[in-house]
Amino acid sequence: MKERKIVLEIKGMRCASCANTIENGLRKLKGVVKASVSFAAEKAVVFYNPDKTDEEKIKKVIRRLGYEAYAQKEGILEEEREKFSIKNQLIIFFIGLAFTLPVFLISTFYYSPEKNFLLFLLATPVQVLVGYKFYKGAWFSLKSRTANMDVLVALSTSVAYFYSVFATFLFEGHVFYEASTTVLTTIYLGHFLESLTRKKAGEAIKKLISLKPKTATLIRNGKEIKISLEEVKVGDILLVKPGESVPVDGKVIEGYSSIDESMITGESIPVDKKVGDKVIAGTINKFGVLKIKAEKVGKETLLAQIVKLVEEALLTKAPIQRIVDRVTGYFVPVVILISLATFSAWYFGLRSTFLFALTTAVSVLVIACPCALGLATPTALMVGMGNGAKLGILIRDAEKLELIHKADIIVLDKTGTLTKGKPEVVKIINEKALELAAIAEKNSEHPIAQAIMNAARKKKIEVSNPEKFEVIPGKGIIAKQRNKEILVGNLALMKDYKINIKRFEGEISSLQENGITTIIIALNKKAVGIIGVADTLKEFSKEAVQKLKKIGLEVIMLTGDNKKVANSIAKELGIEKVLAEVLPQDKAKEIKKLQKNGKTVIMVGDGINDAPALTQSDIGIAIGSGTDIAKSSGDIVLMKDDLRDVVSAIELSRKTVNKIKQNLFWAFIYNISAIPIAAGVLYPLYGILITPTISAIAMILSDISVVGNSLLLRRFKPKS
Ligand code: ADP
Ligand code: MG
Repeated sequence: MKERKIVLEIKGMRCASCANTIENGLRKLKGVVKASVSFAAEKAVVFYNPDKTDEEKIKKVIRRLGYEAYAQKEGILEEEREKFSIKNQLIIFFIGLAFTLPVFLISTFYYSPEKNFLLFLLATPVQVLVGYKFYKGAWFSLKSRTANMDVLVALSTSVAYFYSVFATFLFEGHVFYEASTTVLTTIYLGHFLESLTRKKAGEAIKKLISLKPKTATLIRNGKEIKISLEEVKVGDILLVKPGESVPVDGKVIEGYSSIDESMITGESIPVDKKVGDKVIAGTINKFGVLKIKAEKVGKETLLAQIVKLVEEALLTKAPIQRIVDRVTGYFVPVVILISLATFSAWYFGLRSTFLFALTTAVSVLVIACPCALGLATPTALMVGMGNGAKLGILIRDAEKLELIHKADIIVLDKTGTLTKGKPEVVKIINEKALELAAIAEKNSEHPIAQAIMNAARKKKIEVSNPEKFEVIPGKGIIAKQRNKEILVGNLALMKDYKINIKRFEGEISSLQENGITTIIIALNKKAVGIIGVADTLKEFSKEAVQKLKKIGLEVIMLTGDNKKVANSIAKELGIEKVLAEVLPQDKAKEIKKLQKNGKTVIMVGDGINDAPALTQSDIGIAIGSGTDIAKSSGDIVLMKDDLRDVVSAIELSRKTVNKIKQNLFWAFIYNISAIPIAAGVLYPLYGILITPTISAIAMILSDISVVGNSLLLRRFKPKS
């Protein structure tokens, strides 16, 4: 089936339930395969069948639900639109306030026969102008058969307002215009403030987008021409001056400088760049003038990929959020029922005055807006994931955040993860064997092959081509040249071919006990020599292992290398459990075995070679993915090649999940305790009653405290 995907910017969502409304609306449209809407990111991703529907129809559905939808654009346009809407909202708020204040003062301090009529004149503009937004929201929400918080605001203020209108004109009674006006104005302001803070939550991602320079300096026929970034093509020669950002991904072809890559990789120390080195779009040139050749432009650049990845991650939903969504779906109708029950209990049961019963009913409606519940998860995710991106920790899927929380075991791949993955030959027994090994390894890309080729080059050995060669994964290589059959590999390979290695047994043992990988070379079924290859540990591997243990994880090393070698390295790192001599294709099976006992397993690997194991694990962390994150298969992608970032990623995930839980806890406590108080449960005993105005303030404070609590995550810094 054909499937196309679009990302739309959505404006006008006021609560997480709005996102649900849009999702449900889109799913009902014929031709829509999948739709996901993020309240925090203000975006929708829609997968659809282009034969059955199109972008215009999709946008129309969203507009019919009462929201604005734009095709995704970057930069200025959006900023202007935002400024415009901020200004408009402020104007409406101040007009509302200008009418609300006199209502409040007059109703408390002023007495005259025309008082009610005067209040009516002042309260009506507020109901219309400030209330418009809530009426509109409520209308669209009800139309799509959901009930969001706009319904509660519209309902409660309408009850207060229309009752007062009746009391003004039809019968002599108390009015309570101050309730409708103060509630509307306070909630309006509250939402405005909350949306501003919510924008702060998304700042990290906005910053990432804004890293992209707008122009580039092209060199053509020796002249410098300023062109817009869109015009840069692969192969163009560009000039990057000191202080400028690198416009596209490319390679240095002239000059020398140092580049600040912290915004992309999280690495704080500037990186030296000379001819032949790669540069990344969005990073900043510190001092020298560089000439670069464009290699990746537009959507292909690493920066564009990161932005895309983070944005898509925000559209994924943490499982906890799904539960919350379901709860909030029932929340509004339940609150309306509670409000009706409150009214009946007071008026019919306890024979209070009509006004008293109405006040409690309205208070219940106002105080119970489930907004804080809706904000709890998305704001925390936004800040957590955004902050991670800034540190070079890209979390791809919100679903995994909760899993990390539960992780019991962390499996670390040895080569390339714990070690640098660039082994060197440290021991040669029989130089002739080195030459044979080099012939066999000539076309292999294995790090061990590279080490052998380097050693041969150093010894100025002329390496001829093998006629035939075959790679035996996890074991070595068999090659043929003229009448020679060359075997290069580990003990397992020698055993497979029944090679007698008695001659070298002692040497092999002692090398292996020292953590040196031993490669045996056999010529025509006879062992002729050995080569010792050692890989150095990464600088921070030991520290990272210690930290991982400290946070309560069982650390396991996984490798295809020999047991003795692996044990020696593990000992150096302080790792007790080693799974060695695991063939590449069996690595995923080993992970599966670990998962069998109901354990949650994190696997850390290099992302490209270790893909099956990363996929099999509950959480795959790809480390040092460098410039090709698109190919990497980790759930979490680490830009830097630093194992300590694994610890940071786990800590960040745990903190984010804790934040979500905290937020939800307080939001629930707030609603559960506030509703009975608003209903007047404490009134008979203590005389405590919350007016609708105080309800509105309390409700808004709960929203803002949730967003504020999420923003605290911005303080997260890796401990190192
Ligand atoms: P790792 O799990 O450390 O990434 P591999 O699974 O790639 O390692 O290889 C496991 C072992 O197989 C190596 O330690 C080495 O002994 C042997 N081996 C694999 N490929 C080669 C090769 N091209 N030449 C020699 N030995 C090899
Ligand atoms: Mg490997």
